[in-house]
Amino acid sequence: MKYIFVTGGVVSSLGKGLTAAALGTLLENRGLKVCLQKFDPYLNVDPGTMSPYQHGEVYVLDDGAETDLDLGHYERFTSTNLSRMNNLTSGQVYQTVLNNEREGKYLGKTVQVIPHVTDEIQKRILEIGETSKADVLITEIGGTTGDIEGLPFLEAIREFALDVGMGNAIFIHVTYVPFIKAAGELKTKPTQQSVAKLREIGIAPHILACRCEKPLDKELRQKISLFCNVPYEAVIEEKDVDHSIYEVPLMLQRERMDDLVCRLLHLDVPGGDMSHWQEIIRKLIAPQHRVRIGVVGKYVELQDAYKSVYEAIIHGGIANDCGVAIEQVEAEDIEKFGAEKVLKGLGGILVPGGFGERGIEGKVLAAQYAREKKLPYLGLCLGMQIACIEFARHVVGLEGAHSFEFNPETKHPVIALMNEQKKVTKKGGTMRLGSQPCQLVVGSRAAQLYGAFLINERHRHRYEFNNAYRARFEKAGMVFSGTSPDGLLVEIIELPDHPYFIASQFHPEFLSKPNHPHPLFKGFIAAAHAQIHQKNL
Ligand code: GLN
Repeated sequence: MKYIFVTGGVVSSLGKGLTAAALGTLLENRGLKVCLQKFDPYLNVDPGTMSPYQHGEVYVLDDGAETDLDLGHYERFTSTNLSRMNNLTSGQVYQTVLNNEREGKYLGKTVQVIPHVTDEIQKRILEIGETSKADVLITEIGGTTGDIEGLPFLEAIREFALDVGMGNAIFIHVTYVPFIKAAGELKTKPTQQSVAKLREIGIAPHILACRCEKPLDKELRQKISLFCNVPYEAVIEEKDVDHSIYEVPLMLQRERMDDLVCRLLHLDVPGGDMSHWQEIIRKLIAPQHRVRIGVVGKYVELQDAYKSVYEAIIHGGIANDCGVAIEQVEAEDIEKFGAEKVLKGLGGILVPGGFGERGIEGKVLAAQYAREKKLPYLGLCLGMQIACIEFARHVVGLEGAHSFEFNPETKHPVIALMNEQKKVTKKGGTMRLGSQPCQLVVGSRAAQLYGAFLINERHRHRYEFNNAYRARFEKAGMVFSGTSPDGLLVEIIELPDHPYFIASQFHPEFLSKPNHPHPLFKGFIAAAHAQIHQKNL
């Protein structure tokens, strides 16, 4: 087993997760089995209780773990199988250590950060190493070097690397080389200082991935090499990508990062063939068709809040050789200015998942607009509940219909709390989470898109369609095309007399990859493109 530790310096948001994932793509393409893991130094047990403003999207795994969005990159860029073991937070570490202490497991010792907290961290590296049976484990440490809360993690990986010995573990430091406009040049000082900080802790990076806006010239690379004590060829340029994050693996391959990693870890494997990946990029850069998709949400100003949704839309585009321009629509703008003004000209409308009342009526208006104007609609989780509320009010004729989440007093709670949720009092990790089976109805659009009758999809919700209304909805023309195998939970709805009106209670966006676009997104983009085409005719 070989270990790669990825740390970050200078500033956050450099794309450490992407770098780790892209390296994973390259190593996997050289025939290695790769596993990825993320350590997050915050004290939350998981990000499930954090607002998107704090943390961006919560990424859900098959086993129901609510994890950091970097795990989304790991799954999209590689075929690694992730579980709750792959995301460790300080909160989890301390919870375990404190539980052990209460159980008397430390046999009278003083419980300390070193060795008890650091041992717990190292245990997780070993556990993943064993269960994944991977050749290479890439562990990304969240946060930035110099953060107080990240220190136990850095100490733990320093000790770990020492234990497994040279040639078995390497450190990659993702750093920033800013372009200073006034001087007209790239500056290496922040990188030098960040590496100095790491070396103070006892970690000497083997490779520097230098994030920059402009190319690193030879002189700068020499300077970084000299001052940071890394060989010249280990100073890797990781420039901002022009078109898509999926270019990153190819960029790192051009910089020979995978060659270097294999050499440092004594991995004797042939070079990878990335031609399938190049074809993906070709479709992203020069697609045959183009379409505009509106995503109606309430965190539209945050790049990260709907990360997997945006990625899955792009994958749907790749499947159709169609470039997608994503318009981020603020739901409250639809309430203020009306659906026609805000949504006109879009090829399709997507309402993603969400919590809380703000913007709900705007989303209902968006669903109504899509249904009435025969505009392709894809609803995800809350987006399905919204479509049901709209259908109840305007087609079934249930005035004031709503979700119990937003109006507990409503006469028509078409969306209600799931039975098992009624006794839940704690917030963390208590929703209906993770992969659940779903049975599709023969002859439905959903079954046609999936080409299957039994599927598994990931969930994260407390509310569900209220079965008391099912017959009335069906009579009015809605098809419940996917349910839990016992038939009790509605999982997919669709409208047959519409070019594409599909919504799911689950989150298909978590299962989409650039090389395996999700069928619901593929169908959505195909329909959006088809209707734009028709209108042009
Ligand atoms: N708030 C809704 C629920 O809990 C939808 C959740 C979601 O969109 N993830 O059921």
